Amino acid sequence: MNTQNTAEPIVSAAQDADQLTGFAALGISGTLLKATLGAGYTEPKPIQIQSIPPQLAGRDIFGIAQTGSGKTAAFTLPILTKIMALGTKRRPKTCRALILAPTRELAVQIEDTIKILAKGAHVSTALVLGGVSRFSQVKKIGPGVDVLVATPGRLTDLVREGDLNLADTKWLVLDEGDRMLDMGFINDVKRIAKATAPDRQTALFSATMPDEIAELAKGLLKNPIRVEVSPQSTTVAEIVQGVVIARTKQKRQILSTMLADEAMKSVIIFSRTKHGADRVTKDLERDGFKAAVIHGNKSQNARQKALNEFRDGSVRILVATDIAARGIDVPGISHVVNFDLPDEAESYVHRIGRTGRNGMDGIAITLCDPTENAKLRQVERIIRTKLPIIADHLASPDPVRNPAEKYERQPADPRRVKRPGGANQNGSGKKHFGGKPSGERKPEGAKPYKGNNKRRFGGRKPAARAA
Ligand code: AMP
Repeated sequence: MNTQNTAEPIVSAAQDADQLTGFAALGISGTLLKATLGAGYTEPKPIQIQSIPPQLAGRDIFGIAQTGSGKTAAFTLPILTKIMALGTKRRPKTCRALILAPTRELAVQIEDTIKILAKGAHVSTALVLGGVSRFSQVKKIGPGVDVLVATPGRLTDLVREGDLNLADTKWLVLDEGDRMLDMGFINDVKRIAKATAPDRQTALFSATMPDEIAELAKGLLKNPIRVEVSPQSTTVAEIVQGVVIARTKQKRQILSTMLADEAMKSVIIFSRTKHGADRVTKDLERDGFKAAVIHGNKSQNARQKALNEFRDGSVRILVATDIAARGIDVPGISHVVNFDLPDEAESYVHRIGRTGRNGMDGIAITLCDPTENAKLRQVERIIRTKLPIIADHLASPDPVRNPAEKYERQPADPRRVKRPGGANQNGSGKKHFGGKPSGERKPEGAKPYKGNNKRRFGGRKPAARAA
């Protein structure tokens, strides 16, 4: 593999590399540097400083980092720099770099970022994901592409059908490895990696480090550089957190009362199940609120439309399941409301991390039925913080008070809790709650996908699957 950065070296003969700072010092191509600065990235984030130079030098990367840490640019900029050095000749139905993401939304977001960072670089990109027409994807990769961003399910289908050949794929990125694992994609990922060029360069990113991810890293990475950034070091934002104790049947009214407060400018409401997300949305609409909803049963177009409406501010309320919202980066979310507690305590950290981004304050309110107390304790264990109770509707069921208002009145210090992302790096790994979910509905994405484990690229065509 060519480990030299021959594309538009940004250090001219007259310049001393030691004098360069920021992105200019990292060794990326001049075109990319211009686009990166143009995108408003003035200073590289820690993960970018730690991982761009080694990747340019040809090293594999094992990154422990969450979405929000800046990892997309961290893996994109070195790959683009190297691809630009190769010229435009590609074989049909191939991709030079493959970026695998567990969810469609994350894949879309990654491709969007790549397009921004590759502005002016003449690098082609394509997106391959389930839930949308296969035809246009096959057409797009027909002549060969430089960077392909994909979810594992559809990608596996395209490879098996002979519409894509990964033999020329010299860069492989696995994003959100732990989520891939949760969603049952790990065998697909291993097969996909096997089909890429043996001398490829690989980067694996994961927010947590369960044993299976360490195993995967051992199998896929060659002498990797390990980079680890905690969310605390990437943001100074603080999230105010609190719990509202209420019976499940009270939650709907409490939610509507809260949302009547205009201080709740941009709110993401998490529901454990797809059915629950639909029900919350319907109830809100009945109470006169306009809300968008995003979960795995929605078509890709509907999911993207909901996300766009939320992003551009045409709706201020987004109701989401954990899977659908994972990795979504929407700036300026003022509040996260957990309509119920997630089955997996760690999802709480991801949920509340949707707010308080880029230095802004955020508020996270969790509605907790007494039957969810064990889950609440588990959350408190992993964030190592006792969450303050801001309203208790069991003790005084009427009138339903507005917990958001209470925050406004007393944003007392004890409630100001540091973003608890460090819990991910403390070795506690993925914590699952014991026992079954309290509701009768299946939490979205909670069960690993089982139908595909024995499938090989040459195997029987499986039922279409959503990422
Ligand atoms: P990511 O973890 O890649 O999803 O990035 C999280 C957010 O940080 C995105 O909104 C990026 O556009 C932004 N971002 C990434 N790197 C930088 C940087 N060096 N300076 C400013 N913003 C950045």
